[in-house]
Amino acid sequence: MTMAIKTGIVRDDRFLAHNTGQIHPEHPTRLKSVYKMLDAEFAHGLIRIEPQLAPLEYLEYVHTPMYIEKVLKTANHQFTSLAPDTPASENTWHAASLAVGGCISGLDALVNKTCKVCFSLVRPPGHHALADRAAGFCVFNNLGITARYAAQRHHINRILIIDWDIHHGNGLQEMFYDSSAVLYFSTHDTRLYPYSGDWAETGTGNGQGYTVNVPIPRNLTDADFFHLYRILLADMIAHYRPELIFVAAGFDAHRLDPIGRSALTEYAFSGLMHLILDLKKASGDPPVLMALEGGYHPKALTECVRAVLTVLTTKQNQSVHIPETSQRVDTIVKKTRTIHAPYRIWTH
Ligand SMILES: [Zn+2]
Repeated sequence: MTMAIKTGIVRDDRFLAHNTGQIHPEHPTRLKSVYKMLDAEFAHGLIRIEPQLAPLEYLEYVHTPMYIEKVLKTANHQFTSLAPDTPASENTWHAASLAVGGCISGLDALVNKTCKVCFSLVRPPGHHALADRAAGFCVFNNLGITARYAAQRHHINRILIIDWDIHHGNGLQEMFYDSSAVLYFSTHDTRLYPYSGDWAETGTGNGQGYTVNVPIPRNLTDADFFHLYRILLADMIAHYRPELIFVAAGFDAHRLDPIGRSALTEYAFSGLMHLILDLKKASGDPPVLMALEGGYHPKALTECVRAVLTVLTTKQNQSVHIPETSQRVDTIVKKTRTIHAPYRIWTH
């Protein structure tokens, strides 16, 4: 049986006004291409959620006042920079506050049951942003702020964050490293920026065991990727029983991506979307908030978003051929389980 999921979408042309210059990979063309596809193929069937500008008080959930002030001041310059790899234009402050607000509006729509899944198609991205500085094209930590907002405003204290971007979400990791309110699960290539996310980084204090880093090799296939997530996510969702699932949805592990150096296709992500929907149903059916992170080949990025939305709007199974086992993935899974077994958070 197939059934569409009530799916919200956050989009806004004001995200395009964050100008990073002609040759920067995190370019407005990324979202322009995705929005054009939405107009052509998803004009009906998605619930439009309007983003609100995030007030300062929300930004301060995770960022220092001094850093927020620094971002605010970029509005006075036509072109400046927040970090060597993170340029800012006069509209960056506005776009970045709206990107946070786009995730918060998405969360509110999930909590008040306007939709079951919401995809916030925002920029700039967020998962590298730290408490006191911009990094890796990210200005404010969109999902980090939204997780704190969920706790403060909606009393949600068990959030699973799935970070499938090819880069390690060091900002997200750092914000919740000592907290059990977030189970942070990331697959990434540790030979890429920011070079963190080793297996041994598992959390500290109350957060011990709540950070799950799984470094992956560059040539993983769609089937390998699915196999890895199927095994690990099944345990995490069943044992942690999240009240809410976030996806740091970067698509730079796609084979065409100029930065990610990986081998996946868009079907890896439709497979994962399908998997998440199936697994969560058996565990209280928590809502899912997805936020766009990386993905620097506009056409490939657009194909990936299309693949994910196709699963959500038709629940059509377009997943890849799944082999019974994959030797190298089994090795990765075993290593992850061995490292996390002592904490007994999601292993059994
Ligand atoms: Zn990335």
